[in-house]
Parts: sequence; C-alpha cells; structure tokens
Amino acid sequence: MNTIRVCSPIARSQIATKTQLDRKSITNFVTELIDEKLVAESGKMENVSGRPYSMLKFIDNYVAGIYIAPHLCRGVLIDLYGKIIASHEIEYPLYTDLTTICRAVENIYNELSSVKTPSFGVGISMPGSLNLESGVMEEAVNIPCLSNVNVREIFSAFIKEPLFLEEESRSIALAEKWFGKGRCHDDFVVVEVSAGVGMGIVVDRCLFKGAGQFAGEVGHIVIESGGTKCSCGNLGCLEAYASEPAVVKALSKYSKCSFERLRYFPKDSIDPKDYNKIMNDVGFRLGQGLATVVNILCPHTIIFSGAVIDLFGTEILPAIRDGINKNSVKSNAGQTELFISELAHVDALGAATLPLADIFEVPGYFYI
Ligand SMILES: [Zn+2]
Repeated sequence: MNTIRVCSPIARSQIATKTQLDRKSITNFVTELIDEKLVAESGKMENVSGRPYSMLKFIDNYVAGIYIAPHLCRGVLIDLYGKIIASHEIEYPLYTDLTTICRAVENIYNELSSVKTPSFGVGISMPGSLNLESGVMEEAVNIPCLSNVNVREIFSAFIKEPLFLEEESRSIALAEKWFGKGRCHDDFVVVEVSAGVGMGIVVDRCLFKGAGQFAGEVGHIVIESGGTKCSCGNLGCLEAYASEPAVVKALSKYSKCSFERLRYFPKDSIDPKDYNKIMNDVGFRLGQGLATVVNILCPHTIIFSGAVIDLFGTEILPAIRDGINKNSVKSNAGQTELFISELAHVDALGAATLPLADIFEVPGYFYI
C-alpha cells in the first residue's frame, strides 16, 4: 500500500523490486487489495520482453482533518496520496462556548463531506491535555469550554466515519513527517507558537507521547523564575512571553492600534525599531526555552509553525538561534537546524494525517 502511495502508478513487478518481496506474493497482495476496492489497474506500460505491464493506483478514497483553535476551526479533505481536495474555515470569538465550537466542527465536516465522503476516517486535533483512551479533554487552558468534556463522545454524535483524535502539536508533527521537512530526518521536533506554545516530538520516525501521552509541553518550561504569570498557574513559563496573546500585548505597549490590527499588520502599526525589539525578544525567549530541548533531545531539525511565526516570518529565526546558542551546549546546538513549515493548512493537514497513519503505519514494525 505504501509503495503504491509513494510511486503510483506502478506495476506489480516494480513493487516486487522496491519491496524485495517475490512477485507471486505481490500478485496475491494486489489481488486482495483490488477485491477490497482499495486499488485498481489504470493503464499499461510498455514491457520490452513481453506483455505490457498493468499499472496500479488507488481507487479514489478520502480522509478529512479538522483543527480546533481558540479562535477558529479549519478543515481539509485529502485523498490517500495527501493531496488537498477541499478546505474550509470558520472563525469564532476567543473563549467561545462549547455549542459554537461543536457547530463549527459540524459545519466544516458537512461542508467537506458534501465534496467527497471521508470514508476512511476523520481526524480532529486541538490544543490541550487530551486523554486519548477516554476521549476526555482533561485540561484546555486556551479553549476553556473543552475542559473536562468527552470530545470523542460529542463529535461522534455527528461524524459517521472512524474518528481519530490527537493533540494539535503532535498531529502537526505527523504532517511534517509525512509531507514536510520531517521527511528527511528520523529525529525532529515541531514547535507550534500560537495561543499556546506546544511541541510534537518524533524519535526514530515515531511520535513520542510520554507517560499519560502528555509529552511536549514546551510552553511551560520556566525561563524566568518568579516571572510573568502563565495560564497554567505557574510563573515565568515560555508561553507567558512568546504566545500570540503575549506578543500582541507587548506590541500594544508601543501602539494605539486595535488588538486585531496589531495581530494581522504589526509592521504597519508600530515603529520599526520597537517592532524589531519585540521580535528579537520573543525569538530569544523561544530559543531560551528550546535550548533545553536541544540539550536533551538534540533533534536534527526544529520546524516552526503557528500564528506568531506567521506574524514575524523567517526574520525571527536569527533571534531564536541566538537564544538556543547562548543557552545550550555548543555541540548540540550545532546539530540542530531551524525551519519554518512550508505546508499549507499544516494544522488541519496534521489532523487528516491521523486516519492516514492508521492505514499506512504499523506500530512497532513500519513507520512512514
Ligand atoms: Zn505555564
């Protein structure tokens, strides 16, 4: 299945060569996949020594991904190759109620389903401490109405296909592993800097989840003892200095423009000197927090995404690098490259990768 995904259209003999399995086994596997209506023959390829090869590709099947953020819901419909077929987005006010969020998820699901049925599953990702076994969101500091809610139960009420849930940064890590910068490395982390600061960790091409599946709370690394109060209740967390609300608050000290304007057009709303000072400060603090990650995990790559990264763009990377270099061991810092995600709708794409991973990844044996 994965060889067809990556190399389609492909002949049976080519699959045998690539997988180093014998041709008879491949013929049997392919017959099964054709019977199950997953794969179809599509066109012929010339064969100099005999009958032309029948080429194989997937029959059109789809999965959907929906990402729930504090201020919006975004969804994508993709095919089994990962190509985005449709996307949809609904905005709502920050700290909105559960009914509004449920309605937004349902509307996006209906909108995407009206294009093609996501028969192979729907993935939903969101920030917070999500218990993947029970489906209960144990704590969602940035979307408080989701706290203590069984999200699996409420979304299963209208989603008919298999439902997959995941914390947002981890599903973004999956998207990068499958389709983005993470394709080239066994060990990397993604850092999502938006309403909160979260991290998805990939070790040996496998998502690292930790005890209780709560690993990756990089936003709550304390970078200033006794510092600014964080939404988690502690003082001086990275998130209290580098999250989107913290950045907009810092910008607002130098400008009379509205929060909305500062969020989307910071460069036009503030003196360039002040703008650069804030950007460099936020970048350095991110680097300070990530230095701990670099010291412990020494990842090949850190891939950034999220509203704060969209706001500053690549210009923030030198300050992050400076923060990492000045707070971590030289040997480790030298190993780690910094990138900004190049994937469109990476958050929703990550959610859509959850059902794909269920089809193509075999835990403990085969990871993409
Ligand atoms: Zn915190």
